[in-house]
Amino acid sequence: MAIRNIREFGDPVLNQVCKEVKEVTPRIRDLIGDMLDTMYAANGVGLAAPQVGILKRIVVIDTTGEDPHILINPRIVEREGEQTGSEGCLSLPGKAGQVTRPKKVKVVAYDAEMNEFELVGEDLLARAICHECDHLDGHLYTEKVEGEVYEVKYEDNED
Ligand code: ZN
Repeated sequence: MAIRNIREFGDPVLNQVCKEVKEVTPRIRDLIGDMLDTMYAANGVGLAAPQVGILKRIVVIDTTGEDPHILINPRIVEREGEQTGSEGCLSLPGKAGQVTRPKKVKVVAYDAEMNEFELVGEDLLARAICHECDHLDGHLYTEKVEGEVYEVKYEDNED
């Protein structure tokens, strides 16, 4: 497994519509492993394949650090309620903005064995599912932000 280079805002690969995955080849298996490594190394809660330059409909999400979800060809089939909160993206490091998303979503996707499954997410997981699925259609949260995208100040506990 390896950490891949994360494409940043302004890279045209982030504005493309990704292609469906027909089968999980060894290359795609490696890609998924690398996406998980890359997401964890960057302290992210989600990563979509176009963020590492691959135009395929694959996302990885882990909102707790111990609950990785691999979603291939994900489709959001139900949306419920609303939440407005701070949202960031590994392709815009050090920045965040206020975005309104559904409070709860149901997504249908395929796992790494191409078995179809359903995942229901609330709160942060719902936000992450919506954010990552948007990437697969070439959309970034900056298109939905209310007000300005702002700099995030990280607390440094060392000093
Ligand atoms: Zn993102």
